[in-house]
Amino acid sequence: VPELELIDAVRRLLAPAGDRVLVGSGDDAAVVHARPVAVTSVDTVAEGVHFTRDTHAPGEIGHKALATALSDLAAMGAEPGEAYASLALPPAMPQEEALEVVRGMARLAGEEGVTLAGGDVVGAESLVISVTVNGWAEQAGDLVTRAGARAGDVVGVTGALGASGAGLAVLRGEARGLDPAVAGRLSGAHRCPRARLAAGRALARAGASAMIDLSDGLATDAAHLARASEVAITVRMDDVPVADGVAEAVGGDAAVFAVTAGEDYELLFCIAPEKWEDAARAAAEAGSPASRLGVVDHGSGLTLLGRDGLPVEGLGGYEHG
Ligand SMILES: [Mg+2]
Repeated sequence: VPELELIDAVRRLLAPAGDRVLVGSGDDAAVVHARPVAVTSVDTVAEGVHFTRDTHAPGEIGHKALATALSDLAAMGAEPGEAYASLALPPAMPQEEALEVVRGMARLAGEEGVTLAGGDVVGAESLVISVTVNGWAEQAGDLVTRAGARAGDVVGVTGALGASGAGLAVLRGEARGLDPAVAGRLSGAHRCPRARLAAGRALARAGASAMIDLSDGLATDAAHLARASEVAITVRMDDVPVADGVAEAVGGDAAVFAVTAGEDYELLFCIAPEKWEDAARAAAEAGSPASRLGVVDHGSGLTLLGRDGLPVEGLGGYEHG
């Protein structure tokens, strides 16, 4: 049975399990030493929906599937633990390519200190990868949800936005004439995103009141956070950190592009103003400098303020009242 052969081949390329894992891939189930609080997230990426095989090499698809799942652990401030992957493989996909998918995942797992502790392989019409990740915390209070923002908090974001979206434009041949180094950096941001795990833990420790990872774009995800926290969020477009090269790649208003383009996997967070400086320093030490770009108030919905101080209408995910 080719699927069993493939599973054996996959198992051979996995790194040795971490200390927490008592029984890893290869038995009927994985067995791990639990810590007091488990944090679990599932993420599925499908060919033609989340990636195409002409813009992503097989290893990059595996990397991206795990990175997007880990990003949800980052947004909770959890310590990453184990990952479990289910691969649905089209019959025409050569075994070597399927193994490349797993190698991409295994490489990132190694870099992030995550154990790939189990999974499954099935045949399917097109390539679909579902990754379940487990993170851990000592107590629930160490974690940050979307729901804790309070009026008076400030709003911050790690890193800079728009690189992934601009990278997709590069990969589609829509951003010609760019410096090759810039084009390479942008397309790399799209093909191989990284979860901000260290920054997420640092911001949680620094007292962030609410946090979300930017998968759909700030205009959409900030509105999710505002709804979950039952507050109003105002973001100044002028203070949105736009990644280098985005303006050249996409033309037009780069800040508008940066708040509507998705898949940056940076962290948007709220925090009491007196904690801002410590939090920003902690995020920078964790490799992700943070920018302050908005405020939390009583009310509801997300307002994006343009250069003229007036609300910018009609951006994706924009919600009011
Ligand atoms: Mg998320």
